[in-house]
Amino acid sequence: MSYKDEFKDMDFNTRAIHSGQEHDEATGAHISPIYQTSTYVLPNTERAIYLNQHQDEGFTYSRFGSPSAAELERKIALLENAEAGLAVASGMAAISTALLTLLQKGDHVVAGDVIYGCTFALVKNVLDDFGIESTLVDTSDLEAVKAAIKPNTKAVYVETPANPTLRISDIEEISKIAHSNDAKVIVDSTFASPYIQNPLDLGADIVVHSATKFLCGHGTVVAGVLAGSKELMERARFPMVQTFGAVISPFDAWLLMQGMKTLGIRMEKHCANAMKVAEFLNNHPQIEGVLYPGLPSHPTHEIAKKQMHGGFGSMMSANIKGGIEAGKIFMDNVKVFSLATSLGNIDSLVQHSPTMSHFDMSKEEREAVGIYDGQVRLSVGVENVDDLIADLDQALKIVAEKVK
Ligand code: PLP
Repeated sequence: MSYKDEFKDMDFNTRAIHSGQEHDEATGAHISPIYQTSTYVLPNTERAIYLNQHQDEGFTYSRFGSPSAAELERKIALLENAEAGLAVASGMAAISTALLTLLQKGDHVVAGDVIYGCTFALVKNVLDDFGIESTLVDTSDLEAVKAAIKPNTKAVYVETPANPTLRISDIEEISKIAHSNDAKVIVDSTFASPYIQNPLDLGADIVVHSATKFLCGHGTVVAGVLAGSKELMERARFPMVQTFGAVISPFDAWLLMQGMKTLGIRMEKHCANAMKVAEFLNNHPQIEGVLYPGLPSHPTHEIAKKQMHGGFGSMMSANIKGGIEAGKIFMDNVKVFSLATSLGNIDSLVQHSPTMSHFDMSKEEREAVGIYDGQVRLSVGVENVDDLIADLDQALKIVAEKVK
């Protein structure tokens, strides 16, 4: 561990608040100031040369790093049990940085066939244009992962739980397969957060999060984080973030850290609420199936039990009887849930995956992996769960009246 962590052996909630935080020596400020500056005055040219050659930790220009981002990087590294962290401008910046750190022209990546729509577009189209080939497989099927590996495979990319079917992939087994073929493993752990899952402990090389979601928790920031070995995070920063420029602003880094301090207590409530909502929907006559990893009926429930701790998260998808029309009526009639495309906020959100998060996939591509037209995705918030269930119930009653 390269960061000092006197809270290492303490409970997650204590670590989420204290880890990485350093009180400001200049003023004694309890919460660190936001270093809202683009550049740094250097004492002399020698020091400038030294810092620009990355021979010491220090700040020269905010695209290369800032004290606010550095504190956030320490915090995510400590919560993911990593040597180092890296904060960037969005979840997609974290994903593209991780992939481009490990892959070059002529390389091959194995990725899940159920992943966030923009990641799907990045892997299938953008990387392809850069001369990096990909094979998309069901990553919950270890034989399929093995079969997809080629001599030039340099990375296996796994999203678990996967957006939007909540499919769970076995990080430990996939890491063994990848490493025995000299490939590295990237896990998008956005749906779980570090409270529920620590991919690096299971053998993965890089964990990425859309910090926009549970890490922030309040829907106020678009940001991304990575964590992994010091060597990989250095390669990700110089030259990837340095040259592509997907830097996080000091203000966003600071705001994100305030959210991260309550991650544990939020996740506890998110998980408890989601379990009750999943059970309610699972028994509802207007619902054809609920995809929630905490339900024994979920196809990958057993892997979820093995690698997720503290709960199964707040995300689920439900197929409403009556297809897309029923889905629209449902979403237009919820009152506590908001129709919005993000997730992981304290307030409950609902979206239509085929036309919103997964619009980048064709209907055939979606249906091949179980994303059907009547499918809605719920991000269950931390409101009173009886209010949430009553809201879903009244909207489903309207669906039942209008769709025969
Ligand atoms: N990963 C997952 C699983 C997501 O659901 C999303 C966005 O919804 C992203 C990554 C991209 O994150 P961002 O919107 O912060 O770029």
